[in-house]
Amino acid sequence: MIPIHLKDGVRLRGMTPQALLVVTIAAPIWEEYGVETLVITSGTDGKHSTGSYHHTGDGIDLRSRDIDDLVLPEIVQALQKALGTSYDVIQETTHIHVEYEG
Ligand SMILES: [Zn+2]
Repeated sequence: MIPIHLKDGVRLRGMTPQALLVVTIAAPIWEEYGVETLVITSGTDGKHSTGSYHHTGDGIDLRSRDIDDLVLPEIVQALQKALGTSYDVIQETTHIHVEYEG
């Protein structure tokens, strides 16, 4: 099991179990692709657009800068497949955004 870290200032209060489950499902995928650490970079904290799933606790951001550019799309795809159609996994410029849509 790879280490799971929280970026300083990440707020988890109000996160749904569905959003937190993303971490459990993502960790072995990160490990499979040789990423050494899984870092949560945002939960219910921070500035997100109106209507963002972060406001309802259904959104979570994962660090992507430690992931090789060539591997990143594969990881995004693998995570989407593992989470299924209730979730949306989006590769943003600075992170991977995941939201639970129910
Ligand atoms: Zn996000």
